Amino acid sequence: MSDCLFCRIISGGIPSKKIYEDNELLAFYDISPQAPVHFLVIPKKHISNLMEAAPEDAVLLGKMLHKAQELLSEQGCAEKGGRFVINCKSDGMQTVEHIHLHVLGGRSLGWPPG
Ligand code: 5GP
Ligand code: ZN
Repeated sequence: MSDCLFCRIISGGIPSKKIYEDNELLAFYDISPQAPVHFLVIPKKHISNLMEAAPEDAVLLGKMLHKAQELLSEQGCAEKGGRFVINCKSDGMQTVEHIHLHVLGGRSLGWPPG
């Protein structure tokens, strides 16, 4: 989608600090990091939010999760872990309407969220 920020990052129209890319997924650092490690894992397929994901997207969603833990480990967070978050629609405070998995690590994170 040409009017979607993350589709434009995928196409290279908007620059990003990429961590990982394959034919289905892209991972890049969040522009406004909320922890020492904060990156996003997104599918190249445009899915607006988790509520819009179809049953046939289940394998893709699983790949996002697994790639997220691999990349968090590579960032030195294997022992202490971190937080994997998908904000969804208005109550979830989603601001970019292309599904994205936040991956945060490198500090102790509070719970519950505000
Ligand atoms: P949301 O609030 O939708 O869950 O998260 C969107 C995230 O995208 C935010 O953490 C925000 O900092 C990040 N973001 C917004 N615009 C850009 C951008 O142009 N580049 C990068 N790398 N991250 C962005
Ligand atoms: Zn998109």
